[in-house]
Amino acid sequence: DPRLQGISKAIRVVPDFPIPGIMFQDITTLLLDHKAFKDTVDIFVDRYRDMGISVVAGIEARGFVFGPSIALAIGAKFVPLRKPNKLPGEVISEAYVLEYGTDRLEMHVGAIEPGERALVIDDLVATGGTLSAAVRLLERMGAEVVECACVVGLPEVRVRLVVASSLLHLCKMAL
Ligand code: 5GP
Repeated sequence: DPRLQGISKAIRVVPDFPIPGIMFQDITTLLLDHKAFKDTVDIFVDRYRDMGISVVAGIEARGFVFGPSIALAIGAKFVPLRKPNKLPGEVISEAYVLEYGTDRLEMHVGAIEPGERALVIDDLVATGGTLSAAVRLLERMGAEVVECACVVGLPEVRVRLVVASSLLHLCKMAL
């Protein structure tokens, strides 16, 4: 896809952020480039518009940047999957392992109905730990997770990629 090069160029790589040794993929520069931002959303919309998806679940925080635009364009609702203690209503939560320690994602009970077809969106997949916690949350509520999609996939990715380029990663979870 000829659009991928422009998207890739618009993502800034920041060495040693937030700690030494990490090459941080900064998508805020992609958001400054209208064409690259629109192309990113359009690529996802083209793929998901006819898949019968009724819910787009975005992972805090950068899944909130791409998820709502995709949801509006494909006629789905948007559900935020948040870090602990941010959501005011009743929640279910799923823990996941980080390099040091664990974290949790939470979702409002009642945000989705059993049998809904879901798409999970984040900016980046590294180990897949965050995405798999998101998938577990949705499946516990009875949703069918059709696919997970991220803008960037790091080389150490361990999820099975169904469509993979150097940039856009759409994965069926096989963790
Ligand atoms: P994983 O759980 O797959 O190991 O890590 C993915 C999560 O970490 C995502 O929620 C993503 O936003 C965040 N993340 C890790 N490294 C980076 C990075 O270099 N750039 C950005 N934008 N997010 C990162």
